[in-house]
Amino acid sequence: MRFTDEQREFAAAVRGFCSSNCKTLQQRDALTENGTLANSPVVLDKLAGLGWLAVSLPEEYGGGGAGMVEEVIFLEETARGLAPITAYSTGLTAAQTYLRYGTEEQKRTIVTNMASGKLEAISLSEPGAGSDLGGVRIKAELVGDHYVINGQKTWCSAAHVAEHILLLARTDTSGSKHQGLTLFMVPADIEGLEIRGIETMEARTVNDLFFTNVTVPVSSVVGEVNQAWRHLMRGLAVERVIIAAMSLGAAERSLDDVIAYVKEREQFGRTISSFQAIRHRIANLATEIAASRAFVYDIAAGIDAGEEDNLSTESSMAKLKCTELAKATALEAMQMMGGYGYAREYGMEEQVRKALAPPIYGGTNEIQREIISKNLGL
Ligand SMILES: Cc1cc2nc3c(=O)[nH]c(=O)nc-3n(C[C@H](O)[C@H](O)[C@H](O)COP(=O)(O)OP(=O)(O)OC[C@H]3O[C@@H](n4cnc5c(N)ncnc54)[C@H](O)[C@@H]3O)c2cc1C
Repeated sequence: MRFTDEQREFAAAVRGFCSSNCKTLQQRDALTENGTLANSPVVLDKLAGLGWLAVSLPEEYGGGGAGMVEEVIFLEETARGLAPITAYSTGLTAAQTYLRYGTEEQKRTIVTNMASGKLEAISLSEPGAGSDLGGVRIKAELVGDHYVINGQKTWCSAAHVAEHILLLARTDTSGSKHQGLTLFMVPADIEGLEIRGIETMEARTVNDLFFTNVTVPVSSVVGEVNQAWRHLMRGLAVERVIIAAMSLGAAERSLDDVIAYVKEREQFGRTISSFQAIRHRIANLATEIAASRAFVYDIAAGIDAGEEDNLSTESSMAKLKCTELAKATALEAMQMMGGYGYAREYGMEEQVRKALAPPIYGGTNEIQREIISKNLGL
């Protein structure tokens, strides 16, 4: 896809921002308390000031009013530039559901928050309900004009730094497992909610959530009561493209770094970039990235053209392809950097760690393969 002049300028501006603010490990360490924070409030504030956050969300609710192509540019460039704003994408995913089904007030609150650098979370997974979300058990009971929520959720990204959690809960047990589910907009600091961090191989991102008699008004329902499954099934194409765009940027970063390294590093009296074993692997990765990039932007343009509901197969393919590519590129780059690929100082070990989660979240890649096969009539 060819960018317009405006899109090209936007991409260059975001790239320039990342280069000035997040280029060196020292800069990133200062922004993230030595790599322990996944999101830097300083960077989010600056991006909000530039008017680049929520770029694709509607202007009438406080967003930038541009399209999915511009959002993909932003996600690709910030991932490539290692901007510590991981949870921005989580909020963007949640915003799709609010915008489709929320009340005017919910839409305005979420989009305004997103545009001003505040974070939003989405909580679907439970200890017993991962790929099979029909197994959701957390209960929301209607008592007068309030719902009382009790139970546990898990793997909730950014809940500890978010303003609200878009919560999936069971409101009726009489029907099939996909019936009786409802979405709620829950303030993250509400009484009765305990948020406990899960230790992982990355900076703190994910949390267990414990709800004990958490009480929210009926106006917290997002969309229709007992219709959450239907609501969640729409908007998935956008979520998958968001993950694909970030993974694309991550793959490009690993490629940039390994190219720079092999051109410098000398062994046997020559740069290692002169060895065919290295050159050809890099050529293969660059080719895969270029093809994947064209695919992702084509889907984004399709979403902007109003074809989202017909892009289920392609968006699953993009999520599958780009997340696997980011992982493969980081691992290949680490190998080509030898021992230095394994050292924190050179950044590739972080790229490897970060590339391992996206094939798991947003619907695992096995589930994406299931969707693709089903759509192929298998
Ligand atoms: C870093 C991170 C961030 C996350 N953020 C969030 C978040 O913000 N909100 C949220 O709600 N959740 C989040 N998750 C949870 C994530 O969506 C789940 O981990 C994912 O859906 C898989 O669920 P599970 O871990 O229970 O694995 P399971 O569903 O138990 O799957 C285990 C394995 O079995 C495979 N499998 C399962 N069913 C099938 C099938 N039908 N066919 C073939 N293979 C199958 C899976 O692909 C996987 O390999 C996050 C997870 C991670 C790691």
